[in-house]
Amino acid sequence: MQCNDLRNEYDVVIVGGGMVGATLACALANKPATAELSVLIVDTQAMPAAGVVSNHMSFDSRSTALSAVSREILERVGLWEQVEDSACPIQKIHVSDQGRFGNTKIDHEDFSVPALGYVLENAAFGSALATKLRELPRCDFFAPARVVDATPIEEGMRIEIEQRAADSSGDVSATPQSVSLTTSLLVVAEGGRSPLCDQLGIARSKEDYGQHALIANVALSQPHEGIAYERFTSTGPLALLPLFPVDGEQRASLVWTLDANEVESYTNLDEGSLLERLQAQFGWRLGRLKRIGARAVYPLSLRVAQEQIRPNLLLLGNVAHTIHPVAGQGLNLSLRDIEALVDTLCDAMTNAGEGKNKVIGSMQTLSRYLQVREDDQSLTIGATDALTKLFSSNAQAKVWLRKAGLLSIDLIPALKRNFAARAMGFD
Ligand SMILES: Cc1cc2nc3c(=O)[nH]c(=O)nc-3n(C[C@H](O)[C@H](O)[C@H](O)COP(=O)(O)OP(=O)(O)OC[C@H]3O[C@@H](n4cnc5c(N)ncnc54)[C@H](O)[C@@H]3O)c2cc1C
Repeated sequence: MQCNDLRNEYDVVIVGGGMVGATLACALANKPATAELSVLIVDTQAMPAAGVVSNHMSFDSRSTALSAVSREILERVGLWEQVEDSACPIQKIHVSDQGRFGNTKIDHEDFSVPALGYVLENAAFGSALATKLRELPRCDFFAPARVVDATPIEEGMRIEIEQRAADSSGDVSATPQSVSLTTSLLVVAEGGRSPLCDQLGIARSKEDYGQHALIANVALSQPHEGIAYERFTSTGPLALLPLFPVDGEQRASLVWTLDANEVESYTNLDEGSLLERLQAQFGWRLGRLKRIGARAVYPLSLRVAQEQIRPNLLLLGNVAHTIHPVAGQGLNLSLRDIEALVDTLCDAMTNAGEGKNKVIGSMQTLSRYLQVREDDQSLTIGATDALTKLFSSNAQAKVWLRKAGLLSIDLIPALKRNFAARAMGFD
């Protein structure tokens, strides 16, 4: 697609076609009222091809733990059936504290649910989204391109898009082509770094955790039996999440939180030495950790936008709230945001009659959405931050609190139910 193939005006423009932006487009197309809206997604990167793990910001080698509620949302959006075969069910969650007595086990059977959650490789989610987006008659996907400017106008936003087209040999042109168009609702979903927020003067708080997440897939000598392990170690929380085997090899997805000052000493290790360290921290519950795949590192911080809405403008996904992956809540929270947003837009359009495509950007509509989402957002952000600080500390008081916490969760059925309900995404 070239600049001059675009319309002059779209009802909705989504900046960023990552997991959040692309899911929003699918959710809009799935409801009769919002399916009428014309949608443009602009992304700096093309969607990954089917079955390819790329260095795409959203659809890289990471995996995402999805809650049971997120599964229901993806079912309602019509995406679940595309990813179901790649989503490994979590049958049990095992939480432990390295070298200390006290752990808790949560079993899906205790809660009469088929699974406590699912682990989905981001690349598999990416190819399902790419397939679905291609089927949407009212949605254009424009990439690689960048929204470089956004300005409020009467009843909308005007945006400038730059595209550096590649010629047949793949060489990218030095002079970008640019195009200007308008929209009734600009959704900024461009991830944790958001130049557009800076340009619009939208402040976002930032608290650096001084930690990095090292992620990789690990081959195991023993079946994981659908157990997700969360272990609190001297270096920080470490998760090994169950993945479906490939070519008969058992696999788990590693998310290892490490001190920012030490992360390089881990990433520079040869495979054998890294596996040795990991085995020492994690223990032998999964047998011998045999191999470790490509490693990637993510700096971890808490970022929250001070404004999520303005007339004809909305922030979604990591732009609105970037949280620590310790509890695997970031995308789950955004999927709940997406569902509430689409419901709110549908209601507003249904009640508006004439000019219903304009009502989607009004402050009345966007405030209603935010009102619905405020409690869940602040609870999830607050709880994740508290958990990160509690479980990343070696201070004796926090160690005792953790020990008491893990023991009591295991011993008091009501607490355990509550803990499990949160992990599954139920309030
Ligand atoms: C190590 C790790 C583990 C995680 N595990 C979990 C988990 O288990 N469960 C869970 O729920 N969450 C998890 N998360 C959080 C989850 O990954 C994020 O919530 C999710 O990726 C946010 O998606 P997004 O689309 O908002 O942003 P991104 O994934 O960053 O996508 C942003 C998109 O915008 C595009 N873009 C950027 N700038 C521009 C621009 N100027 N113009 C156009 N396009 C642009 C990018 O190319 C990209 O496609 C984890 C996060 C990390 C770091």
